[in-house]
Amino acid sequence: MDAAVKQTVGHYIGGKVVAGSSGRFGDVYNPALGEVTKSVALASAAEVGTAIDNAAQAFPGWAEVPPARRVQVLYRYRELLIQHMDEMARLLSSEHGKTVDDAKGSITRGLEVVEFACGIPQMLKGEFSEGVANGVDSWSMRQPLGVVAGITPFNFPAMVPMWMFPVAIACGNTFVLKPSERNPSCAGFMAQLLTDAGLPDGVVNVINGDKEAVDTLLSHPTIQAVSFVGSTTVGEYIYKTGCAHGKRVQALCGAKNHMVVMPDADMGQVVDAVMGAAYGSAGERCMAISVVVAVGDDTADRMMERLVPRIETLKVGAFDQEGVEMGPVITPDARDRIKGYIDRGVEEGAELVVDGRDISIPGYESGCFVGATVFDRVRPDMSVYTDEIFGPVLSVVRAKNYEEALQLVNDHEYGNGTAIFTRDGDTARDYGHRARIGMVGVNVPIPVPLAFHSFGGWKRSLFGDHYMHGPEGVRFYTRMKTLTSRWPSGIKEGAVFNFKAGGEH
Ligand code: NAD
Repeated sequence: MDAAVKQTVGHYIGGKVVAGSSGRFGDVYNPALGEVTKSVALASAAEVGTAIDNAAQAFPGWAEVPPARRVQVLYRYRELLIQHMDEMARLLSSEHGKTVDDAKGSITRGLEVVEFACGIPQMLKGEFSEGVANGVDSWSMRQPLGVVAGITPFNFPAMVPMWMFPVAIACGNTFVLKPSERNPSCAGFMAQLLTDAGLPDGVVNVINGDKEAVDTLLSHPTIQAVSFVGSTTVGEYIYKTGCAHGKRVQALCGAKNHMVVMPDADMGQVVDAVMGAAYGSAGERCMAISVVVAVGDDTADRMMERLVPRIETLKVGAFDQEGVEMGPVITPDARDRIKGYIDRGVEEGAELVVDGRDISIPGYESGCFVGATVFDRVRPDMSVYTDEIFGPVLSVVRAKNYEEALQLVNDHEYGNGTAIFTRDGDTARDYGHRARIGMVGVNVPIPVPLAFHSFGGWKRSLFGDHYMHGPEGVRFYTRMKTLTSRWPSGIKEGAVFNFKAGGEH
């Protein structure tokens, strides 16, 4: 497509679309075609500053709107998103590559956070103690922080922003979102729906950009808190830089999720689970299963016998082709990086059982496709085991026994999600108790918590103290205040110079 006629994605500031003025642009691909189909404006520091100023101007008014009234906007936003689900899912898929059904599923998971946020008045209820001393009452309340920022990854361009802004604004904050520059359109689409739902201008702003925009958010004195979801290298940088500037930061990062398969597991269930969890969304999920630890050679052999034919017949294609189960990866660079990992796995001695490197989809020969790939007999020192590949590449490790499998899981640097497949309650309970991982599934391959629980990992999968959405999300986006009051009739004495025991005011 000619550069002059390419669609350009701008920012969304103060309730309207704003064209970029920095003169810098990034490429947005249609991953199935492997072609650049849009360009996205990359904001300068000054443009980020304008978005922050809009959010700052909107904050005092929005914070004073009673929570029960704030959420009326979210109820209407929810209805609008449901009405526009098909359109948004296609927009998402055209820039991400995942199937339209998968895109709809992810938008629905985001909607569940909107529904949780609609109940925020319940979550913002404070605690009250009558008569903490004679004539003295005390209560604690949670108040919004001010202007908060979200920085999000490419793999869930609708759901991950919806982990953040619905909770943030329901709590009374205003928001600046910096979505992935690789698929920026869903963010602007959602911001427009919020305006259509009646959200006052400036409460949610979208600024597109790269490191320059992120660094401006991290150092700007008006930004009170930063929510980040993305890779560990960037997340650690964001956490340290944001904290150094005095901000509250939660950074949810990379993963290498292990599924432990015990000898007594239901193998039909295991194979179905592995297919969906390893290859759904081309493995570009932070909760994807990228390692299966089979306990015992016999377990591994039985699993591979049933798994390999399924992998070989997985239907790969463009997001809008009939019956497609797995789409392309995000960009040509990602495709080449993932194929590089497969090359390295072979060099390092892993057994390449199904090789996805040479896939070609008729009509989409330049697309960013990597076929479903599986390595067997992977060792923990190999890069296909240690690194997050973020593609459709599964490593099978053979462990001698349960303890060895658990040790592998606990020794890995990441701790986002994990699953165990077994029929044995004792083993399942032990695993749930001892796995050093944030989210654990028992015969559930992708144990993503629902919106009223909180989402987050351990170890180098999360920097900061707070998980996302659910009760932890509310704590992250609010500050505690405790108020102690005494009315004149309760005053019994004059000036008091000594500290007194509780209850003796
Ligand atoms: P990424 O780290 O490359 O980008 C995430 C965000 O950071 C983007 O908005 C990007 O513009 C920005 N960014 C990139 N490089 C930067 C830099 N040098 N300085 C400042 N900002 C920078 O991540 P991605 O490739 O978009 O997403 C995939 C990663 O996200 C994977 O590692 C995946 O595991 C992770 N992820 C984690 C979770 C979770 O909940 N733990 C959820 C989804 C994705």
